[in-house]
Amino acid sequence: MSAVPSINVLGLDPDALTSLVAQWGGKPFRARQLSRWIHQRGEDRFEAMTDLARDFRTRLEANCTVGGPVVNLEKRSADGTRKWLFDMGQGNAIETVFIPEDDRGTLCISSQAGCTVACPFCSTGYQGFSRNLTTAEIIGQLWHANRALRDDPSAARLEGAAGEAGRAVSNVVMMGMGEPLLNYDQVLGALRLMLDDHAYGLSRRRVTVSTSGVVPMIDRLARDCPVALAVSLHAPNDELRDRLVPLNRKHPLAELLAACNRYLEHAPRDFITFEYIMLDGINDTDEHARQLIQIARQVRCKFNLIPFNPFPQSGLRRSPAARIRLFSQRLVDAGLVVTVRKTRGDDIDAACGQLAGEVRDRTRIDERLPDRARIVIRKKEHG
Ligand code: SAH
Ligand code: SF4
Repeated sequence: MSAVPSINVLGLDPDALTSLVAQWGGKPFRARQLSRWIHQRGEDRFEAMTDLARDFRTRLEANCTVGGPVVNLEKRSADGTRKWLFDMGQGNAIETVFIPEDDRGTLCISSQAGCTVACPFCSTGYQGFSRNLTTAEIIGQLWHANRALRDDPSAARLEGAAGEAGRAVSNVVMMGMGEPLLNYDQVLGALRLMLDDHAYGLSRRRVTVSTSGVVPMIDRLARDCPVALAVSLHAPNDELRDRLVPLNRKHPLAELLAACNRYLEHAPRDFITFEYIMLDGINDTDEHARQLIQIARQVRCKFNLIPFNPFPQSGLRRSPAARIRLFSQRLVDAGLVVTVRKTRGDDIDAACGQLAGEVRDRTRIDERLPDRARIVIRKKEHG
């Protein structure tokens, strides 16, 4: 074993990288040069970073690594969607999904192995919680995807969109496994790298954090790094939301909506994206639409209706297409901006909420956590 613990430079945010280099007497431009090699060119061998001074490279080799994630499995969907399952050690795995579209390439990344919030419609919620990911593990998903997609002709390649022409990932959404705002510090480090011009150079609006509503951390994010914010609403009243998003019992709707408005003070030209999963007979009636319209009057927002992606244990059903259309129309008629999410990658279990099916089986979490208090929708709301 080496006497000096190895530092994974992949997980150092721009300030941390600069101070590491400064400890060795290096100027900030050296840190920026190193950052471009690692994050923009995807290089993991210090000896290949030929324009770095030799003594600097020797120091790096002695003390550091560029430790990307370990791939367990990779799948490609007929629609071009790609999914990676990464091994996080000790039986944990997480998933990352790339969704190519005409004008963008979106990477959906994970922030935790498992999740404590335990929403009854989400397969990650069924796994229980294993652990928080580190900054290196979070940014490593983006680092790996850019490397893997470099040689994929079907991946969108957008001039300028990703900071440097030629990189496939132009947008990042933190909508994979886990609740990003319950792993705040590590997620913040990763966000800073995504936005840094010498790392991924993504604009603030091309990076979205999706949260089930961790109110105090919404306030911190507003101050620290106000990227685009998506809030998983899923229910228009506390009674139903307490059951669909159990975190609502701690931070009820009125508190959440007030936090959304405070967030928008830091991002004045932005809006909140409210995600709303369409569950047959649970949250998709005209009355729910009416209540939702009242909520929308309180916050500058857009709606993203997500057709529920079923999985066996949930016991829930997707709203029929006609119901989703009507529900959407009700909101549109009230002057709201609404999109209905297209399901992508469901042939490889990469659609929303389907992540980690394999993980659950592999870790046999159901046996280890037999009694999770999670089936909160035993009775349908309306009888
Ligand atoms: N924990 C965060 C981010 C990860 S979940 C959050 O809850 O916002 C990302 C999105 O996927 C959320 O809006 C979530 O509600 C949605 N989702 C989870 N399970 C789903 C399923 N089975 N079908 C469709 N969408 C799902
Ligand atoms: Fe966690 Fe989000 Fe899934 Fe809820 S929807 S269990 S908050 S990952």
